[in-house]
Amino acid sequence: MAATKESILDKFPFPVIPKIIGEPNFESLREVQRKLSNNAGSIQTNLGGGQHGYLALTVRPDIYFGLTGQVFAPPNDPGPYPIIPPGATNAQINAIERTQKENQRVFNEFNAVGNALKQQLLGALDETYLRGLRHNIVGFLNVNVLQMIYYLFTNYGDISPSDLAANENRMKASYDVSQPIESLWQQIEDAMAFAGAANAAFTAIQILNLGYDLLFRTGMFKDELKDWRRLAPARKTWPVFKRMMTEAHRDLRQQSAASHGYQTANMTVQNEPEDHHQATIDALQQLANATMADRNAVANLTEANAVLTNTTMDGIPKAMATLGQQMETLTSQMKTMQSNFDKLRGLQVDISNPKYVHKHFEKLITSTNTRRNKFWCWSCGVNKSHGSDDCKWKITGHREEATSSNMLGSTPFGRRHA
Ligand SMILES: [Zn+2]
Repeated sequence: MAATKESILDKFPFPVIPKIIGEPNFESLREVQRKLSNNAGSIQTNLGGGQHGYLALTVRPDIYFGLTGQVFAPPNDPGPYPIIPPGATNAQINAIERTQKENQRVFNEFNAVGNALKQQLLGALDETYLRGLRHNIVGFLNVNVLQMIYYLFTNYGDISPSDLAANENRMKASYDVSQPIESLWQQIEDAMAFAGAANAAFTAIQILNLGYDLLFRTGMFKDELKDWRRLAPARKTWPVFKRMMTEAHRDLRQQSAASHGYQTANMTVQNEPEDHHQATIDALQQLANATMADRNAVANLTEANAVLTNTTMDGIPKAMATLGQQMETLTSQMKTMQSNFDKLRGLQVDISNPKYVHKHFEKLITSTNTRRNKFWCWSCGVNKSHGSDDCKWKITGHREEATSSNMLGSTPFGRRHA
């Protein structure tokens, strides 16, 4: 169905704009422009980058470019009839006709949206204030809504230099990284719109420099700002900047949430990856506990078996005492493991990253070594007697040169137990 002014008006988030009583001023004009821009931006189109609807109908091209990094080229009237070259095949004629029809649709919709906005603006204030733009015969036919908006700002939107200075200060207020980064984007874009309406628009470069400066001063975005500096000039647009830094801010929050044990206020961390993270830690801990427990249990049971085999009825109390001691040893080994893993968990590292896992396993080994076991072997793992170069129990693939800081494919528990 072809778009009409009426069907467009129905889709606007502000179908009615309250009328300004009496002479408009900067504030009331800004409010009208804000509603018109919301309406314009709400109608989807592939024109102007396809992300901001028809916003280009209500803001100046320089501001549209500053906000979107895109140029909005108004569609041309394709005329009522397609131009069919002589000798065209049926398929070619069909394609040309389809293109013509689509171009016509795009052009009509562009006009319908512009007319709907124009009607809204004309309804939002007394026509007297637009008289200077009105043609004697054709009225406002050849005037678009953007021209009307800026005519009004020029004639009635007086803004004092001190208001402009205040706006600039609001725009440059330093950014607190514990706040959502969207609040920073809002701060900058609001001020851009304000300055644009006051005919003192910031250039796209100034906006980018400001965003850069505010984030730089937080000291938290060094790597990302470096990546940004390396981008080709043509890619350095405001939306790209926002996307990169929004992503960086999300990472920052996740790290911060992790290192503060989720206690930081105002955190809106996505739960899914963190749950996953925790699940991985739990799984590793269970694996480690089980491996360690298995090893010790087998060793202890072997010894216990030996004790029992060589025990007569008279010897049972002594055997029981030995078993009791072994239970104690086992329990204390389990406790050591538990505390090592609690420490590992306390480090809150990204355990899905092999580099970190490796680094923290090293710490685990070091701490285990200093407590009871002094050695580590590629085949046997952490143990009391020997390193990789002195192993009597090598398994296939054993690497004599492996050490706890360079495990060469083994694990803290040894390849035998992997
Ligand atoms: Zn060994």
